[in-house]
Amino acid sequence: MMNRSDTRFIFITGGVLSGLGKGVVTASIGKLLQFRGYTVDAVKIDPYLNVDPGTLNPVEHGEVFVCEDVWEFEAAPGYRFRIAEIDQDFGTYERFLEINMHPSNNITSGQVYLSVILKERVGEFLGKTIQVIPHITDEIKRRILRASQRLKPDVLLVEIGGTVGDIEVMPFLEALRQLILELGKEVVILVHVTLIPSLETVGQLKTKPTQHSVRLLQSMGLQPDIIVGRSKVELPDEVKEKISLFCNVPKHAVASDPDLETPYELPMIFEKQGLGDLICDLLKLPRRKPDYRSLNEWGELIKRFKEPADRVRIAIPGKYCMIYDSYISIIEALRASAAWLNLKADLILIETEEFERDPGKLEMLNHVDGILLTPGFGARGVEGMIMVAEQAIKERIPLLGICFGAQLLFVAFSRYVLGLRNAHSTEVDPNTLHPVVDLLSEQREIGLKGGTMKLGGRLVKLVKGTKLHEAYKSERIIERFRHRYHINQRYAELAAEKGLIISAYDELDGTICGIELKDAWILGVQFHPEFRSRPRTPSPLFLEFVKKSYKIRKKKG
Ligand code: GLN
Repeated sequence: MMNRSDTRFIFITGGVLSGLGKGVVTASIGKLLQFRGYTVDAVKIDPYLNVDPGTLNPVEHGEVFVCEDVWEFEAAPGYRFRIAEIDQDFGTYERFLEINMHPSNNITSGQVYLSVILKERVGEFLGKTIQVIPHITDEIKRRILRASQRLKPDVLLVEIGGTVGDIEVMPFLEALRQLILELGKEVVILVHVTLIPSLETVGQLKTKPTQHSVRLLQSMGLQPDIIVGRSKVELPDEVKEKISLFCNVPKHAVASDPDLETPYELPMIFEKQGLGDLICDLLKLPRRKPDYRSLNEWGELIKRFKEPADRVRIAIPGKYCMIYDSYISIIEALRASAAWLNLKADLILIETEEFERDPGKLEMLNHVDGILLTPGFGARGVEGMIMVAEQAIKERIPLLGICFGAQLLFVAFSRYVLGLRNAHSTEVDPNTLHPVVDLLSEQREIGLKGGTMKLGGRLVKLVKGTKLHEAYKSERIIERFRHRYHINQRYAELAAEKGLIISAYDELDGTICGIELKDAWILGVQFHPEFRSRPRTPSPLFLEFVKKSYKIRKKKG
């Protein structure tokens, strides 16, 4: 297979266990290259068999990220699928690398196998037995090389999800071995991220699990060029030496990835250890000095996170609060907006089922500065979400509802202010007397669930004079969408008489994209501002929400 550009490849694998923050390592390496003026793009490989993560419960796999672009994936001639929902790591890449990612850069086993099997049906392999090697591995290599052709970056980062040793990961590692053979060692390098646990009882960092996972890689014909050790504290010299000796990498190629106050510090930690120059050397790229201004600006950002002047308390009631990753882009947008205002965001995640069991707990909402009502799907925990919105309306607590959060804010308004006691979304109660939130008309014919929502970036028109317009300071914005249901225009007009304002419309299909209360900072938006928010350019809406929450609280004293 041919690499038809000068693109170099950095593969990132994980060892010992998952959840090590490989995404942050990948993005930080990309940042080191950007500091040097090299262009980068990132691919994430997800070894699971889903075609995309769109139908996954966030509790199982974290947030589903949405790109601006929607990708028409042609699995085989005549077989097309829409993909716009991708792994949450793309959010990390966008926040660090400050470029828009493309859905075709998320390669899953599901896509790879689907392609190969459909191609067999079409007749592309007539007379042949279809096998993991070479057919699956060829498809993987083809997808990776195609990703490198899209923007032809100087360096393509390819993060392989899962852990070395997982059965699903095997074909990808084999494809990597073949790519190194075909393209050469100076074009493809391997960074292995592994856990270095510390045994409290002996007060020592332990390298044995790392040795084992590297040996596993070696048994597949792969030798890491760089080992990144994830640990509580920075790796002392003797630990680096040990890893070097046992894992067959030079000591200066063992990098420390300690616990940090903010993940945005990691590029600086890597830079200090000489990782940027080392990567250039390994890839035979000219060593360039990191751009002084870019480094400084990144440093400024870190300072904002680490030296806040005050705090702001934001509640995040939701249905998937068991893990932080379910709402990672929302959390990052809140943290960044707070940091931008010299504040630290204290975030309180609460399962809304708790309010259903004990409504007395709603009282806690009176002690936060603002409420971020979250996106979601399905009936569980919904009554609790509506109770939260009602409480915010009653007590005039600043609230930003996103997608499902906006829809349920409207349900609460309909019940509590309009007096329509049975008002609901038809997603939860298909037979409701008052379908104040209803299926989008374009969705009525759609039965299949994968990749069929209203998805991707769209133009939104904001109504002048609204709080939403005040936040964006523009009448036309682009935001990203992921939904099937929407706020019913008929009921929104009814609500207008009782102090609810429609603040935004989808420019193309005219559906309602924003609502707000006339006399309180209580807003709902159908789109997802969190996906476009980046630490150095936080979402204007999140910024305004945090600012208003803090101000109103201060005023109350
Ligand atoms: N379940 C709602 C819908 O499909 C909201 C989706 C969301 O919050 N992303 O419209």
